[in-house]
Amino acid sequence: MKLINQRLFLLFSIIILTVSCKKVIDADIVIRNGTVYNGVSDVSLNASIAIKKDKIIFIGNEDDIVINASKIIDARGLIVSPGFIDPHTHADRELKDPGKSHNKPFLMQGITTVAVGNDGDSFYPTEKYVKLYNSNRIGTNAVPLVGHGTIREQVMGKSDRKATADEILKMQALVQQEMDAGAFGLSTGLFYSPGSYSNTKEVIALAQIAAKNDGVYDTHLRDESSYTVGLIPAIEEAIEIGRVAKLPIHISHIKCLGVDVWNQSTEIIESIENARKEGIDVTANQYPYAASATGLKAATVPRWAESGGKDSLFIRYNNPKLKAQILKETKKNIIRRGGPDKLLIVKIDAPEFLGKNLLEIAAMLNIPPEQAVYEVLKDNYARVASFNMNATDISNFMKQSWTVTGSDGNTGHPRKYGTFPRKYHKYVKQEKVIDIASFINGSTSKTAEILKISNRGKLKEGYYADVIIFNPETFKDKADYTDAFQFSEGLVYSIINGKLSVENGVFTNLLNGKVLKK
Ligand SMILES: [Zn+2]
Repeated sequence: MKLINQRLFLLFSIIILTVSCKKVIDADIVIRNGTVYNGVSDVSLNASIAIKKDKIIFIGNEDDIVINASKIIDARGLIVSPGFIDPHTHADRELKDPGKSHNKPFLMQGITTVAVGNDGDSFYPTEKYVKLYNSNRIGTNAVPLVGHGTIREQVMGKSDRKATADEILKMQALVQQEMDAGAFGLSTGLFYSPGSYSNTKEVIALAQIAAKNDGVYDTHLRDESSYTVGLIPAIEEAIEIGRVAKLPIHISHIKCLGVDVWNQSTEIIESIENARKEGIDVTANQYPYAASATGLKAATVPRWAESGGKDSLFIRYNNPKLKAQILKETKKNIIRRGGPDKLLIVKIDAPEFLGKNLLEIAAMLNIPPEQAVYEVLKDNYARVASFNMNATDISNFMKQSWTVTGSDGNTGHPRKYGTFPRKYHKYVKQEKVIDIASFINGSTSKTAEILKISNRGKLKEGYYADVIIFNPETFKDKADYTDAFQFSEGLVYSIINGKLSVENGVFTNLLNGKVLKK
């Protein structure tokens, strides 16, 4: 009996000694037992992650340490990843609205940071909106960009002409002002008015200001199809801007839009690879859908006809001398998009047109589709889902190491609610176009590097604690073209700046995001 007691005493002493030798970490949250992808590695790790305040303070195994945490998350069977970063959204529409600033359509996809101000269209001035977002409180982090179209309009209105030297100087000063207010770079929408009225020289002059401030150039290309210069020359223009202005070029929602340019992905990939070899930092983002979304006007109306705005468009349209030419070009644009049955109205205030394609509307009104465009636009703003991409181009672009995930989320297209889970479910799990590590790395650390967001996008000690946990069996998009407003499934936890935003699949109602600083 005495011997047993002595042995027990010895055993306890050893245990106490080992425990007391272990380093003790005090944390707010510890995540254990998950399959961890850290945003960089090609393989998963089995690691615990400790979070204190807004930072990751430990990642690794617990053999030699003791973590005391008030909140313990058991992630057994789940995937732990850095929060997704979405480089192209139109979420600024929500963030400015206190009722919608939770940003749930994005948040429930696992997105913890969104870029805003894309396509050349930013809210002006940046300083005002940074303040507004922070005082509203926002559900995800936000990264502002300054829009070229916005700046051009400030200086030149909607006029369809080249900028004078003096106007370029004024625009440069405004870009500088917006960069000072927190913009991470310059965005352009060279397909849209008024960006489309600018030449390459003007864009370079403004991109140089972004370059001086260590910013990025993010572009909606001048042409993703065969509208004006053509897709490949539009890619070359973007590369030229990077070459001359000396800054990283990020091509948004890369695609081959319309039958005229299908299968050009191989050639485009080659020219991007060549530019990268030359030392120009070219990257792209992509959403995993075969339909794009845009305004009905942008998709079908000739740019010259809308110069000056909507009133000017209808003055020209009602002028018999111009009407025939406008209709002829509109018809061509509809064919370019794959025909009137490939243009589905997804957002409009007129219920009789909502959910119908242009062919159905034309039949309903008993007029040709190109005329129906103007009947619809006369009293409405309309957005369309435009079915215009092929599967080969989509997967070719997706496989590139320089392509990251970006939703281009805006109202009416399912991509706003579904991009990241859809890419995982359809392209990683079902079709195996890319593997899970490539998906995660291309939705986290690579995107952070592109936008130059510091200390996010990786699960790493000292980094901000933007962490998501999803169920690999159920992580999936639900939104589609008939109901684009369904939240994605399978996100179990989202932690933003160290605080729980989603717990057990449910939004916690806490607005943990902030506008990030460059
Ligand atoms: Zn765009």
